[in-house]
Amino acid sequence: MNELLKNLTEAVGVSSNEKEVRLLIRDLIADYVDEWHVDALGNLLALKKGTGASPLRVLVDAHMDEVGLMITDIDSNGTLKFEGVGGFNDRTLLGKVVQVGPKKITGVIGARPVHLLEANQRNSVVKMDAMRIDIGAKNKDAANGKVNVGDFAAFVTEYEELGVTAVGKAFDDRAGCAALVELLRARPYPFDLYASFSVQEEVGLRGAEVAAYGINPDVALVLECTPAYDLPNENDVSPNVALGKGPSIYVMDRVTIQDPRLVGHITRTAVANGIPFQIRQPGGGGTNTAVIQRTRGGIPAATIAVPGRHAHTPTMIINLEDYANVVKLAEATLRSLTPDVIKRN
Ligand SMILES: [Zn+2]
Repeated sequence: MNELLKNLTEAVGVSSNEKEVRLLIRDLIADYVDEWHVDALGNLLALKKGTGASPLRVLVDAHMDEVGLMITDIDSNGTLKFEGVGGFNDRTLLGKVVQVGPKKITGVIGARPVHLLEANQRNSVVKMDAMRIDIGAKNKDAANGKVNVGDFAAFVTEYEELGVTAVGKAFDDRAGCAALVELLRARPYPFDLYASFSVQEEVGLRGAEVAAYGINPDVALVLECTPAYDLPNENDVSPNVALGKGPSIYVMDRVTIQDPRLVGHITRTAVANGIPFQIRQPGGGGTNTAVIQRTRGGIPAATIAVPGRHAHTPTMIINLEDYANVVKLAEATLRSLTPDVIKRN
């Protein structure tokens, strides 16, 4: 059992509410870094001093937050109205168990049951505003004592390993956080390595923008979990990331073209070390690379990701060999990174 992934994915950290994850990571890295602090937005920033062989300042980022819900109202019958925090497809929510607020009150996301629907309603998607979280309260007063408007609700999914795959919540991006913890626990790099475990990625890449500004690195690497779309495959979908085929390297997404020199360095490193990899197909999505790249005078940046099925739902699946290969590829990429890689002529 991968305890690091288990502990990190079972921790709760809906965007802006990352404290539980931050404290966990702080304890995991404290003995392996030279300095750490928490900035004003809540990013956990750490420095692992290098051997002094290279003058580069290198940033590696992974976001701590996960998608979740926020309670917006309490109905007279004691059920909770909510909004999404981060991107969701409403249809993935019904019937899921959540934990609400700091007291972690258990609730179930429900809507009018199938027996009571008109024929035409059965075929349409229930919208989020027609769903409620049921915490078993008998009326508004009873619910009020347990939860407050503005409380966050997080999904509850126990981490489990099924052979070479792992099932859990929030692999996006606790898999990246776990990989970054492993990088910090390795021997020193030729350069000073700065780590940002950033906040509020899922609501607009907010934490990393501040972290990168504060750290002011020469180059940055983002560790992510990117949607695998290899299931179901009866439709003719454009080729995309598949589970088990190795780390996924971003080249272009909705908001970024990854630094081509870094993409070249990463793919050459993979080939040289016999690490499998796949190019993530250009298209939607975006990572913290987008804001890091545009910080200050511009910072060359690229993203390596663990493929994850069922992204932005309460339950994801990753392949543990893909995860291990992301750690391997990120470490090899860093150890062979020289100022020449990002030199402009
Ligand atoms: Zn992510």
